[in-house]
Amino acid sequence: MSVLMHRCRACGHATGWHEPRSRGYSSCSCCNRGAAQADPAPQLQQTYGHPGGRPEPLYPPGSTRNSGTMHASTTCDCGACRAAYDRLQQGESAAG
Ligand SMILES: [Zn+2]
Ligand SMILES: [Zn+2]
Ligand SMILES: [Zn+2]
Repeated sequence: MSVLMHRCRACGHATGWHEPRSRGYSSCSCCNRGAAQADPAPQLQQTYGHPGGRPEPLYPPGSTRNSGTMHASTTCDCGACRAAYDRLQQGESAAG
């Protein structure tokens, strides 16, 4: 599934990498040091299904990913993410 996420302006990794439970998975000193310098503008992380390489649907802001697993997380639902989501959904319907 595609997701909207914020990147750290210092190191370029997703802000989730800076969370305490993600420490140690990355060798990035910025991620392991603490809070991200989050870029307020969300980035679209597009994923593609197999087979066919069709773009996968986008998680709505505030929805739970990987529920029931240790990797469960909630997508960001800030105003910028909601605006980006609305824009993307409208773009999809306009295209087809
Ligand atoms: Zn960082
Ligand atoms: Zn990093
Ligand atoms: Zn957001």
